[in-house]
Amino acid sequence: MLVTSAWPYINVTPHLGNLVGSVLSADVAARFYRLRGEEVLMVSGSDEHGTPIEVEALKQGITPKALTDRNHAYVAELFKRWGASFDNYTRTENPVHKEFVQEFLMKIYRNGYIFAEESRMLYCERDQRFLPDRFVEGKCPYCGYEHARGDQCDRCGRLLETTFLVEPHCVICGNLPVVKATKHWYIDLSQLAEPLSEYIKANRQLPANAKNFSLNWIQEGLKARAVTRDVEWGIPAPFPGAEGKTVYVWVEAVLGYVSATIEYCRRVGKPELWREFWFGKDARSLFFVGKDNIPFHTILLPALLLASGEGYNLPWNVSATEFLQFKGEKASKSRRIGIWIDEALELFPVDYWRFFLVATRPEAKDANFSWEFFADKINADLNDTFGNFVHRTLTFINSRFDGAVPQAEQLTMEDEAVLQGIREKVETMAEELEAAKLQSAANTLISLSRLGNQYLNEKEPWNLLKTDRARAAAVLYVAAQVVKALAVASAPIMPGTAEQMWQTLGLAGSVHWCRWSDALEPLEEGHKIAKASPLFRKIDSTAEQLDELLAKVREKMANA
Ligand SMILES: [Zn+2]
Ligand SMILES: [Zn+2]
Repeated sequence: MLVTSAWPYINVTPHLGNLVGSVLSADVAARFYRLRGEEVLMVSGSDEHGTPIEVEALKQGITPKALTDRNHAYVAELFKRWGASFDNYTRTENPVHKEFVQEFLMKIYRNGYIFAEESRMLYCERDQRFLPDRFVEGKCPYCGYEHARGDQCDRCGRLLETTFLVEPHCVICGNLPVVKATKHWYIDLSQLAEPLSEYIKANRQLPANAKNFSLNWIQEGLKARAVTRDVEWGIPAPFPGAEGKTVYVWVEAVLGYVSATIEYCRRVGKPELWREFWFGKDARSLFFVGKDNIPFHTILLPALLLASGEGYNLPWNVSATEFLQFKGEKASKSRRIGIWIDEALELFPVDYWRFFLVATRPEAKDANFSWEFFADKINADLNDTFGNFVHRTLTFINSRFDGAVPQAEQLTMEDEAVLQGIREKVETMAEELEAAKLQSAANTLISLSRLGNQYLNEKEPWNLLKTDRARAAAVLYVAAQVVKALAVASAPIMPGTAEQMWQTLGLAGSVHWCRWSDALEPLEEGHKIAKASPLFRKIDSTAEQLDELLAKVREKMANA
């Protein structure tokens, strides 16, 4: 099982919406499949070439490499703090990647899928440079969106060429560009339309949003797509006569999934192992991307792999999220709309964020972040339901049963129903995670804790203790089994919290080394647990107070 996330583009630090669509979702899936006993490899890396990096470096007055060295180190460290369990988080400047991309492109060139053509590109006479991709903005010819970029429209998602833009302007100086002749190398996607369409139709995992979008696009007619650019910052194009050109950033970024696998396998001394992940009959690959990245993973990547003629496995599933908006608007660093992944960790513990983002993951439509919504989810689901149930159960066992799982002499039908409920919820959650329905899985996890909470409220073991100690013991025995199941089942979503529960339950090793099926292995009677401390704290600040707190964090970080 190869689990990947879209390569974060590191011109800026990712915001929460970037994270939930890529790295966080991939991490939840990778952790789940490891618990299932699969051989999992989780890879991604910093996408550091291309025009937005150059644009940002120009703005800051430094070289692109200086910018990406700094940002890659910063972002890689942040992902660790977010608990991302990458086997390899690499970068597109690494030599394994560069070499692989060049060799791969030469292979498809020799296979006849690449052709060169004199074409007319936008050129800024003031800056004396061609304006590919994000160096130019204008109106989308399809939907009329005013701020479409040279390579893609953010509103309708269509891939564009810069010359398609209506009323284009140079993003460096704002001037109207001219059209100038230059030579570029193209991949002839039309030759691949039929196998691509067959692949997408036959793929049972692809969610409807990815499937429909891709099939529509193929039906409209796949145009040849330039794989070279007139920019300096990137991988030199390997084609004969292409000196001075570099490889289009999306082409190399999607090939990075392969090169990152190769790099990892070499590093662990098994240089041929990567083939099992990319050619193995029983290997599956799972991609987590934002919806604007769908065509690169369902069209461009499969097209490249097919064109190699080598028999690569095509993506098994591409799970695409919609956008996370902030108070009804798209995240924008310049307008200070949104929350960035470094700021978030200064405000609340990482598992609060991981839980919130997964439980509200924008799967069917755009989601909207507000402080009220965040505080409500944390308070109602994590603190009052999950945390409260676990803490009541464990402290009660600590104080009234000498810290040992009580003996259940006799289980009633209601007790059995709760134990059955554990099995059903854990099974449902596994099905949801298999289907990449992470949001549903997070909510099933909470419903399991709700089941335990309601059971405690109904049985009132604190009262039973006065009249029927054996009944109270049986209830606490059952409740302890719910806590055990919650510890395992929460491991993919809240790894730190799960580990805290595992340790408090006095279980050996780490929850992250166990198996998903261990959720259903009961704690034995008499098993000793440790002293419990609360898992979460209630958020009682208002939205205004949280906004002020965020502003303070920003100020502190800007000065650091
Ligand atoms: Zn558009
Ligand atoms: Zn210009």
